[in-house]
Amino acid sequence: ERKAALAASTGPGATSDGHKVPLLANVGGPSDVPAAVEAGAEGVGLFRTEFLFLDDSQKAPSEEKQVEAYRQVLEAFPEGRVVVRVLDAGADKPLDFLTPADEPNPALGVRGLRTLLDHPEVLRTQLTALAKAAEGLPVYLEVMAPMVADRLDAKAFADACRAAGLQAKFGAMVEIPSAALRARSILQEVEFLSLGTNDLAQYTFAADRQVGAVSRLQDPWQPALLDLVSLSAEAARAEGKSCGVCGEAASDPVLACVLTGLGVTSLSMGAASIPYVRATLAKYTLAQCERAAAAARAADSADEARAAAQAVLSGE
Ligand code: PEP
Ligand code: MG
Repeated sequence: ERKAALAASTGPGATSDGHKVPLLANVGGPSDVPAAVEAGAEGVGLFRTEFLFLDDSQKAPSEEKQVEAYRQVLEAFPEGRVVVRVLDAGADKPLDFLTPADEPNPALGVRGLRTLLDHPEVLRTQLTALAKAAEGLPVYLEVMAPMVADRLDAKAFADACRAAGLQAKFGAMVEIPSAALRARSILQEVEFLSLGTNDLAQYTFAADRQVGAVSRLQDPWQPALLDLVSLSAEAARAEGKSCGVCGEAASDPVLACVLTGLGVTSLSMGAASIPYVRATLAKYTLAQCERAAAAARAADSADEARAAAQAVLSGE
């Protein structure tokens, strides 16, 4: 029965009453593209570009090498949407030539956009390569920065994109609670938000994502995390802009319904999860998703939130 439901699951992501929620793929490079196309991804919601920087620990890849890799991904989604995240170095993704070696708390140090603002030539090359890769393609390119903390960060990134002549939408990832709390201010500088729930959970709960002993606090069903998702989605709605989710949270089919109910406008996940999320979302109306979201937010723990949402959706 499950197999049949999955096989019947094709086409764009939507609730049973037709509220569209584009289902996008997280990819780590061109080799992940076939699986994304196979799963019927409507585009790429998170292209992690770190893989390009892993071959050489001493310097950034050449502009030509980057253009080639970006083009391979962009070409796979003609008319589709591809959201590229600029380099997220540091903390769990250290790079010898960029990441300071002497930080006591690398997750709270120079990482993500902070690294790029300290090394503007690396950001400039990446943005120029993206502009060249997209030239002449009908693809709908969006570019976003990891670890945006405030409006100044968002402005610095948007300025760099404009200076590189990039014809794309510029966005900010919401991975730090300050960005969720002041999402409207960040949206004065950029055109979309994308919630990175892995890091957002880490920073909300002061729970290192690499430390198994604190994994209870990394559960994306935590009501406090849902509150921050809601704040971000509400801010985007008020500004007439989009707010997607590209962290692991989007790959849990029931949580995907809750995120939809909170006002999230697209969901990006590993390709393997797309059919399950599509099939589950198609079973419920937007109003049911909103009720499930309200029930989850009223809970006091991740387990209670999950149970409450499930109870609403199963009509108990
Ligand atoms: C996240 O933090 O949720 C995210 C999508 O980025 P990454 O997992 O690559 O840090
Ligand atoms: Mg992250």
